[in-house]
Amino acid sequence: MVNRNDKLAQFQASYLFLEITKRKEALLASCPEAKLISLGIGDTTEPIPAIISEAMERFASALATKRGYRGYGEPFGDPALREKIAENYPGIEPDEIFVSDGSKCDIGRLQLLFDEMTPVAVQDPSYPVYEIASLLYGKKEITFLPCLEENDFVPDFSLVKEGSLIYICNPNNPTGVALTKEQLSSVVKIAKERSSLIIYDSAYASYIRDNCPRSIYEIEGAKEVAIETASLSKMAGFTGIRLGWTVVPKEICFKDGSPLIKDWERIVSSLFNGASNIAQAGAAATLSAAGQKACRALQDRYLQNATLLKAALKSCGLTSVGGEHAPYLFVSFKGRSSWELFDELLEKAHLITTPGVGFGVSGESYLRLSAFGKKEEIEEAASHLKSHFLPLEFQRLKRSSILIEN
Ligand code: PLP
Repeated sequence: MVNRNDKLAQFQASYLFLEITKRKEALLASCPEAKLISLGIGDTTEPIPAIISEAMERFASALATKRGYRGYGEPFGDPALREKIAENYPGIEPDEIFVSDGSKCDIGRLQLLFDEMTPVAVQDPSYPVYEIASLLYGKKEITFLPCLEENDFVPDFSLVKEGSLIYICNPNNPTGVALTKEQLSSVVKIAKERSSLIIYDSAYASYIRDNCPRSIYEIEGAKEVAIETASLSKMAGFTGIRLGWTVVPKEICFKDGSPLIKDWERIVSSLFNGASNIAQAGAAATLSAAGQKACRALQDRYLQNATLLKAALKSCGLTSVGGEHAPYLFVSFKGRSSWELFDELLEKAHLITTPGVGFGVSGESYLRLSAFGKKEEIEEAASHLKSHFLPLEFQRLKRSSILIEN
């Protein structure tokens, strides 16, 4: 038989969401009548705006006609779409936009650009794919940058080693924390000083509701040191349709002086045959003024869910971050194990959450709650949270009042 890729052998524990599914199925096997509510996996639930589905329908219908049929498209994306996307980025040209089948796929493919000795820095906790992709592509050294309560969940980027790839997820999944302009400017400065490259994942940028930057290119000098990946998955509900893009500025060069964009063009044209043309028609509608307005209303519904959950947690005396500029809440349970909390809520409150430790060791003692559910389910989940935690909080208050009385 053939040899196994030894890079795969290093993953002992199963991938976070597979483990969650395993535990959920075990509970349902022992308690089939349980009606579980998911505050777990970060998938969207609201229907996509009609203006987007109608654009895709029109494109799909035209494919059945002699005039409207299209085969392979441009490998880097429809030129009109690339132009439209570039309008959203200060100083970026359409030929620096590479339309893809989503961010996760691009996060994997981007790894091919860098040799195995390139050190990697990732926020801890963060989206697990940065670490997994780095290991799968043989990277030898990963520095974890702790995002802790004591540093307001903003890591110390000065820990980044010379010549590193720095992954930044902003707003961060799972903490939901968005970095300010000053914080991002300091990362760009560090990247320049340390001859490093930022891979900036803006999957949740459309949820930012204050003046924090939505793109790394809002920061002066970022074009020389940052690649940005973007996705319509959470912006417009394209998790199943699949459409994203990566911005690769021409200024970025490797240590040997060669332009990175040329190698990226080689990788994309060798391993990818272009995003679905139907999805690209949907993307064009998403980026129109009316599409953006409809998507903002969609995102606001999820943010309202987050507000509801946050209020329920607060009433139980629990503290959380996130939920204001991202559809995730990161809830603190000091001193307790994330998986133990996950099991407790699954078994006793019939809620599926995501253990913070699944996003990195600094996520231990936290749970991530996703606001991507339907409003009725979120309301029900909020009441389950209260029924579960309020009696505990009541007991704690009773204990402390007895102590005071004594
Ligand atoms: N980046 C982050 C931070 C995510 O949380 C996700 C999905 O959950 C992705 C990327 C994946 O995006 P896509 O659906 O475009 O592959």
